[in-house]
Order: sequence, then structure tokens, then C-alpha cells
Amino acid sequence: MSMAEFNGNHKWYKAAQTPSELRYDVISRGWVAIATGRARKPGSFQQEKKQQELNGKESCPFEDLTDQEAPTAAFFKGKQVELPSNGTVPEKWTTISLLNKYPAFIPQENFQWKTNLIGPYQIMEGVGFHEVVITKHHQEDISQFSQEQTKELIDVYHARYLELQQQDFVHYIAIFKNKGKEAGASIAHPHSQIIAIPATSPGMDVALQGLREFHDATGTCAYCAMISWDIKDESRVIYENEHFVALCPFASRVAFEARIYPKEHAAHFEGITEQGKWDLALALQKTLRAISKGLGDPDYNYFIHTAPPDGGEYALYHWHIEILPKTGTWAGFELGTGIEISTIEPEKAAEFLRKQ
Ligand SMILES: [Zn+2]
Ligand SMILES: [Zn+2]
Repeated sequence: MSMAEFNGNHKWYKAAQTPSELRYDVISRGWVAIATGRARKPGSFQQEKKQQELNGKESCPFEDLTDQEAPTAAFFKGKQVELPSNGTVPEKWTTISLLNKYPAFIPQENFQWKTNLIGPYQIMEGVGFHEVVITKHHQEDISQFSQEQTKELIDVYHARYLELQQQDFVHYIAIFKNKGKEAGASIAHPHSQIIAIPATSPGMDVALQGLREFHDATGTCAYCAMISWDIKDESRVIYENEHFVALCPFASRVAFEARIYPKEHAAHFEGITEQGKWDLALALQKTLRAISKGLGDPDYNYFIHTAPPDGGEYALYHWHIEILPKTGTWAGFELGTGIEISTIEPEKAAEFLRKQ
């Protein structure tokens, strides 16, 4: 797809302006992004004794959007609204996506797909897209949202996914939310981010290998097998409706980890139907409300794991949302072994969340 047919509010950059590069680890087979354009000064990493609190409403950058970058999609009370042609924010909106003011990845004019080889190392330019999705109210978040408000957020994720995946260099689209300082947010105002990059997450390769082996042995999708077992068993289910189920996974990595799965096998988030979005909204809203109520509004991260738009074969994948409340910190054992110690049985966590 050419630049002209694409979202008119995106700025396109020259090759030399890329703010980051992707470096490949040949052993773990994963990419890391290294900031080059706006890297921090080495001295700035000195730990401050006390981290600053996140900004209040008075100094919130998302209360008045005139200083922000151009919007890429906007909804008002459940309906998509047209964006002004001059790149400004529409008068009325309740959920909006904007170009990130400090993007980690930027789209590049005439991007040439290549990996530079330097001895045993590989580098790729940090080309891509980086957007932020915000909802209107400074304090009200998904745990207090109605089904309609949550559905609108999913509508924005969906609309942006459908557009961003059209660019050839987009091989992975990460949609995620960091809530609170502990979870890595630097702004208090409820927001999520969308990052589209030219590299696929190494976790996807590992997941596909596991799914392939399970499928070869049993003829079914491992996720489908776990979902139908858990629905019958009930002990790990937090919430369920016609199209989605929220549960604490059997092998939870952190206390109160929650996942939301479509009940029907589907590899691609973007294939979700209108009815599916309503059901997903309720599952997401109810799960986050139970976590907020039961655990005293903890910080959390969530992200969508879905088959990437890189032309690969992903029919075996089963997309889902992972929610990781900040109930502990990765320490030496976790970092050294990759084995996490969760401090509550998932069955007890699910039972507790069901009661909220
Ligand atoms: Zn705000
Ligand atoms: Zn499945």
C-alpha cells in the first residue's frame, strides 16, 4: 500500500531520522530495540531515591490535546467520528488514538527492507508506528467503565490494527496497556499504546512450536483443549459469556494472572465480529473490575497476543488477552531461570476474583 492511501495524519520520516534500531540476539532468537536518536545520557541512569509520583489532573498532558500530535482515529459515544483534515482533534470524542509525541518507532519513506550484518551481529532499522490511545476521563478507567465504554476502546484497537497491518513493513502489532507507575506508565491518565514493528516476537516462535507439537499429538489446538477443560472444570474460570471466557491460567506466571480467550478457535484478533467485541468488552471490564476490587486497584499490564500480520502460517495460533497485575517483582530466581514463583494457586485466585 502506498503512503498516499494510508492514514493522512501520519508523518513519514527520512531514513536518518529513525529514533531506534533493532538488534538481533542469535541465541535467544529475539530482537531488542535500542534507542539511538534520543538515547539518554549515561549519567541520567543514576537511581533517584524516590521516584516521582505520576502527574495529577492539573498537569496532565491528555486534558488538553492541542499540544499533542495528530489523531489517527476517534470515537464519540460508540460511533467513529471523522477526523478534521488539518490534523487537529475533533470537537467531540470519548476515545481517541494519537501519534505518540515521543515515538520509539517511526514510519519511513521508501523503507528498504534489509538487515545489516556486522560480524556475528544483525541490525535492522527501528521503523514502525507508535500510537497512544486515551479515554476522556482522567481517573475513570476500565474497571469503572460501562460495557459501551470498554467496547469503544476495543473498537479503537481494532480500527488501528486493521489500518496499521496494511503496511508491508509491519510484521507485528503490539497493543498493550500499562496502568500505574509499577507497571511502567509515566502518565496517570488512562491510556494504552499500539506499537507496530518489522519484527515478530520470539515468544511467537516458541508458542507455535508448542502448539504444533500438541496438535501433532492430539489433533487439537492446545488453547482450545485448555479452554474447554477449564470451562467444564470451572475452578479457574473468572467470568464467561457466549463468545469469551476469562480465567486464571493453570500455569499462572504471577499471582492473579488472568487471560481472556475467544471460545471459538481464532488466530487473529482483527477477525473479531461486532458481537464478539461486545462480549470481549464485558469480559475485559468484569475481569479488571474484579482485580481492582479484590486487590485494591493494583497496577497492571495487559496485552493482546495475536497471530502477526507478517504473511506467516499461524492457523494454529489462538489469540487472547493476558492481564498481569503487579502482585510481585521479578527477582534473581525469576530473572536467572525464567521460572516464575506465583504466590497463590490459580484456582484460589479465580475463586476469589469470581466473588468480587
Ligand atoms: Zn488526564
Ligand atoms: Zn484454539
